[in-house]
Amino acid sequence: MKTCIYCGSKVELLSGEIYKCSFCEVNLGPNSPYGEVGIDGTRPKIDGFKTGVVLRDEDYLAELSVKELMINSMTLSMMYSILKEMRLIRSEAYLLLKEAKDFLKLNNDKLPLDQINQFEHSIKSQGETYEFWTRKMWMVENVCIKKFGYCPAAIQERSLDQMENTTIKVSKKTMKINSTINSNISVSRETVAT
Ligand SMILES: [Zn+2]
Repeated sequence: MKTCIYCGSKVELLSGEIYKCSFCEVNLGPNSPYGEVGIDGTRPKIDGFKTGVVLRDEDYLAELSVKELMINSMTLSMMYSILKEMRLIRSEAYLLLKEAKDFLKLNNDKLPLDQINQFEHSIKSQGETYEFWTRKMWMVENVCIKKFGYCPAAIQERSLDQMENTTIKVSKKTMKINSTINSNISVSRETVAT
């Protein structure tokens, strides 16, 4: 039986491959923004926790745009992983910048002019790197606020794992309600297994 991936109700065939859920007031099908129709109470398919792909891929992170972050397939766990990684890269960039600045401050009198120029040049470029990742981080934080109404302060690896495991567990539970209409309630009092 074709069912709605949101509420588990039986859906009604509208035309072709488009099904309508009257309870949720959505149409489901191959081209629907709400997704595909379910079968016998199945839930939305998990788009995949692509966290492993994101990790440490600076090119991927650097090219991310607001548009890409806003799309439906960019899940909460993806956004969290991206944000976690960007914060890390940014703080590394900050440390490098600070070290270079501190070094120049300490050795300003001892270094020849051409070396000082070289250092100042590299500090400038490290400053630009730091600014780049700061703006990227702000971008992700604010898309989080826009999209989810929430932006976490710190993200632990453990909480990402928990998020993933919980979602997989929930998504595997089919949505079926034991019918109580035809059964004798005084006999059948078992609770629905969850
Ligand atoms: Zn529904």
